[in-house]
Formats: sequence, structure tokens, C-alpha cells
Amino acid sequence: MSAEVEQPQIPIVKKKPNCFVGFANLPNQVHRKSIKKGFQFTLMVVGESGLGKSTLINTLFNTSVYPNKEHLEAEEPPKTIKIETITTNLEENGIKLKLNVIDTPGFGDFVNNETSWKPILEEIETRFDLYLEQENKVNRKKIVDERVHACLYFIAPTGHSLKPLDIEFMKRLHHRVNLIPVIAKSDLLTEEEVAGFKARIMEDISYNKIQIYRPPIYENDDPETLQENKEIVLRMPFAVVGCDKEIEMKKKKVRGRQYPWGIIDVDNEDHCDFIKLRQMLIRTHMEELREYTNEVLYENYRSNKLIASGNEFGDGGNPLARFEEEKRAHEAKMTKMEAEMKMVFQQKVQEKKNKLMQSDADLHARHKEMKEKLVNQRRELEETKRQLESGARPGTPEKSRKGKGYFK
Ligand code: GDP
Repeated sequence: MSAEVEQPQIPIVKKKPNCFVGFANLPNQVHRKSIKKGFQFTLMVVGESGLGKSTLINTLFNTSVYPNKEHLEAEEPPKTIKIETITTNLEENGIKLKLNVIDTPGFGDFVNNETSWKPILEEIETRFDLYLEQENKVNRKKIVDERVHACLYFIAPTGHSLKPLDIEFMKRLHHRVNLIPVIAKSDLLTEEEVAGFKARIMEDISYNKIQIYRPPIYENDDPETLQENKEIVLRMPFAVVGCDKEIEMKKKKVRGRQYPWGIIDVDNEDHCDFIKLRQMLIRTHMEELREYTNEVLYENYRSNKLIASGNEFGDGGNPLARFEEEKRAHEAKMTKMEAEMKMVFQQKVQEKKNKLMQSDADLHARHKEMKEKLVNQRRELEETKRQLESGARPGTPEKSRKGKGYFK
């Protein structure tokens, strides 16, 4: 067994090259590469019809992502929830963004909306599955990422609190997607109503342990970013107003809604939270939303799926579990073989021992026999010697010799 050797800690020395060598250019290299590749973002919008979803998307990207509904023929309301994807290629200052907006017409529009969340969750998971399939292919060069990076959930401006449908939807979806709740058409509520409504929504969210997307607050961020992120969090859930048409206010064109009592300016932070939502969604946290989708939401889904597929096929389906099982079986086989070999060895040793003991005893017996023979021979020789010395014929018994008077 090798003893662990403690590696000496090599101190990291900070050094500055004496002249510009070029690695300070790395961010530019990354920048150039990403510009060349372009960006892609998939945004889902959920809420009852007429809550201003398409208007808000058009207002956010300041272009008609959704076609103008005024010229479209009135469609029959859908009988089931539909999933519709609109893809738009946008470009701003040479930066390309492929934007996918997934709409869910029909959500919350039926008499019974109990399972309205189901097809939406299925859509999100199907997109995860498609990504997982691509990742598992031998050739993974061109993975297309169609995963949903954020979901804008439109809350009707009732001014009360969340409806059971809202709570159910968010509870079912928050583990799969970055949820961003917004109060739709907030211009229909007074400032006080909005404040009270926001507080009750946040209470419901925390009571039901719903996880909504919040910009992460890193203490080592610069003070300006820290302040910006804190302000964003304070405005949640964003009370938004959408408007893709301009009106004149104090001889200036603004995107807003005109009322007899005045104008609601979408781009005025004192009027609504549209600016804060756009800042978070597009200007400061789009990449963060993509990252969180990939590193947390998708990763959880992926690992749960792999574990579940392992159980489904009885551990044999999960390669890791199968490997562990095979390893255990191999180890048991080796232990059994080792015990058997030990037994055979001991048996052989015993046999050898017995044989040795037997031959030892034989040897001993022969030795004893030979010794006795030699003692007898010696005794006979001594007898002969004595007879010779006394003049008697060797071999004549002493008694008979005496009787015949030879030695008188
Ligand atoms: P969707 O069905 O959720 O996509 O809703 P639309 O975007 O088509 O909007 C439905 C209607 O609400 C349209 O007449 C919009 O002009 C209007 N609308 C959209 N956003 C707002 C808003 O923020 N406030 C008010 N008051 N009306 C809005």
C-alpha cells in the first residue's frame, strides 16, 4: 500500500509581464466569437387571453414580433391549449439574436382549468428531452438549444391576490423554468392598489414555497450592479403596461396609453415596472437566465431522468448501477474462489504432512530393526570372540563343551 505523500504547496506568484503580451485581449476574442455565432433566447408567455401578452412582447423588443392582430380575422377560441412558437431574427448594432417566443393560447380560458399547466410542463420537458438526446449522440457538434429560458406569467389585474390557477401553475412549473410573474395591464389599477396587490402576491408566493427568478446578488459585484439588482428585486412582481403605438405627450412621442386623466408612459419608471422588466430580461440577465436554465433546471431534470430510467428497467437500465452490480458480483465470485483455493491448499498440505509422518515412522521402525540386528550381531561376535579366546570351538554351547571336558 502506498503511503500518501503530502504535496508541498507551490505558492502562486502574481506577476505582470514587462510589456503587453496579449492575453488581456481574451475577452475580445470571446466577444468576437459570440458575435459571429449570434445569440439565441427562448421565452414562453403564459396567461389568459386578452391580458396583453403579445402587446408586451412587441413593446419589449420594440418591433412586431407578433403580427398585428387588427388585420387578422377573428379566430375561433381554441378548444384545448395550443403551443405556438414564433421565431424572429433580430439584430441590434451588429449583434444577432434569434428570439423564440412560445405562446400558449387557451391557457386559463376554459370553464375547468384544473390541468391547464400540464401541456405547458410537457412542452418544457419535451424540449429538455430533445436537448438530452442531442447531447447523448456521438456527433455533438451542432446542438440546437430549444430549451425554454424564461417564462413570463401574466397575472390578471384583479387587485386581490393570486387565483388557485396561478398558484397551481407556478407550483407545477417552478422547478423546470425561470418563472417571472408580471401583473398584466397594471394601468388599470391605482398606485396603492398595485402596491397592495404586489405585497399579497409575494405573500402567496412565499407561503406556497414557489421559486420565482430573482437576479442573484453577489457581494463582490460592483456597487452599481448590486444597487441595480436590489432595485429589480424590490419591484417584483413587475407591474407592466404594454403599448406598441406612440402618442404625443408634451410635444414628444412616447409609447403610452391615453386616459381622460392623463397618459401612462410605458418607458417611465414612475408609471410602471416595464423598464425594470426589460432591464432584467434583456439588458442585464439574459445570459444569466440561459445559464441557470442549463446549469440548474436542465441539470436537475437530466439527473432525475437518468436515475428514474435506471429504476424503471430494474437497476440494469442505469449504466452506473449496472456497473456497481457487476462489480459486486465479481467481488463475491473472487472471494468464493479464494476460499475454495485455500481449502484445497490446506487439504494438500495435510496429505503431505500425513505422508511425511508415515515415512518418518517407517524410517524409525527400520532404524530400530537395523539397530536391533546390529546389537544381536555384535552380541554373537562377542560370544564367538570369547569362545575363541577360551579355546572352545566357536558355535559349541558352553554347557556341552563343559560336559565333554574340553576346557578342563
Ligand atoms: P393577448 O391575448 O394576451 O396577447 O393580449 P393582446 O396583447 O392581444 O391585448 C389584448 C388587448 O389589450 C388589446 O386591445 C391591447 O391593446 C390591450 N392591451 C395590451 N396591453 C395592455 C395594457 O398594458 N393595458 C391596457 N389597458 N390594455 C392593454
